[in-house]
Amino acid sequence: MADCCSTPGLLPFEDALNNMLEVINPIVDVEDVALSDSLGRIIAQDLKSPVNVPPNDNSAMDGYAFAHKSLALNNELVLVGRSMAGSPYLGECHNGECVRIMTGAKIPDDCDTVEMQENCIVENEKIHFSFKRVFGDNVRGQGEDIAINQNVFSTGRELTSVDIGVLASLGIQNVTVYRKIKVALIATGDELKKPHEQLNNGDIYESNSQFLTAILAKLGAEIINLGIIEDDEAKIKVAFEQADELADVVISSGGVSVGEADYTKTVLEQLGHISFWKIAMKPGKPFAFGSLPNSYFFGLPGNPVSALVTAHQLALPALLKLQNSRAKKPLMIKARTMTSLKKSPGRMDFQRGVIANDLNGELVVTTTGSQGSGILTSMAAANCYIVLPLEQGKVAEKEWVNVQMFDKYLL
Ligand code: AMP
Ligand code: MG
Repeated sequence: MADCCSTPGLLPFEDALNNMLEVINPIVDVEDVALSDSLGRIIAQDLKSPVNVPPNDNSAMDGYAFAHKSLALNNELVLVGRSMAGSPYLGECHNGECVRIMTGAKIPDDCDTVEMQENCIVENEKIHFSFKRVFGDNVRGQGEDIAINQNVFSTGRELTSVDIGVLASLGIQNVTVYRKIKVALIATGDELKKPHEQLNNGDIYESNSQFLTAILAKLGAEIINLGIIEDDEAKIKVAFEQADELADVVISSGGVSVGEADYTKTVLEQLGHISFWKIAMKPGKPFAFGSLPNSYFFGLPGNPVSALVTAHQLALPALLKLQNSRAKKPLMIKARTMTSLKKSPGRMDFQRGVIANDLNGELVVTTTGSQGSGILTSMAAANCYIVLPLEQGKVAEKEWVNVQMFDKYLL
């Protein structure tokens, strides 16, 4: 039986990934965009806060503000004014006095503590305090969320919806981001048809460029879809040249094996530089990476599951690096497999599974069933990969396995 050392010519997955990441040079061009258009963009500068958030000490409750030392003498204070959010109390508040205050309103200068109104008894202009408060209670301090000049986000961060809220709270209107990367897509294959076309004998509907478009949209890339190209060396060459003129990255699928209609490798060798790998991973053994005169090139296998998994596991990290994203490595978690898993040593498997909590709250994972590289529904039914290392053989029921949750690019 094959193992890692007796499978000649197969490149371990990590080596393929590292080789690619070493070669990729991140883009340098930047542009300014409105904060409202910045979701998913990669910031090209460290963002420091121009203000304190909150800008002043303010109340966390509707109640009464006073100087804490006032209550040492007396638990009844005289009401001298009101501080509302947006219209602070500007007068003085002496010993023995208090100010009506609303949530978010500025704490008057002489005050340091707030009592919530539910704990107070109001009688004419006098407020009785039933509890002794601790100094500073119910006061949100100036700059307690973000201090002025504090580094809020570092360059390379992909802005999330939460980040946009944080930046809005700083009064920031525009951000400098890296320009979008341009990715050209090419599907190769005589048998591939578009949705409205008639399927003749042996034809199938083209799907790879469709899910790639969806993944790239989530990545925030500009997509140039060059459509379906026949298995014809000259036509593929023209398509690759055109793609190279337009894009930073060219991604093709199909024609990357060593079959009679597989021209990707030949054309790439004519036009640019190519590293063609048989990668020790399943699905997705044949994979090409290289460069054309103006762009990087990824040649995905044609089988939809192989194309999807190699796009996700290999091309995506490279694209993230290209767009300067400091995305974290995907989390690996451990779960018990509910069924045995078929596996031969020699390749790293990305099997499709469904992870869930069992009745005791423990993490368990169930295979989606047949793992054939043409069965795209095995990806649709899954919410995770069951990642089985290269040297691993078959896995028995109840064994612990490594699981990688599907991320936003697949869901
Ligand atoms: P290939 O790598 O070109 O030999 O293709 C391997 C398998 O994937 C064949 O069954 C193809 O019909 C299929 N295939 C190739 N490209 C696509 C595509 N863009 N969409 C769906 N299936 C494809
Ligand atoms: Mg083909």
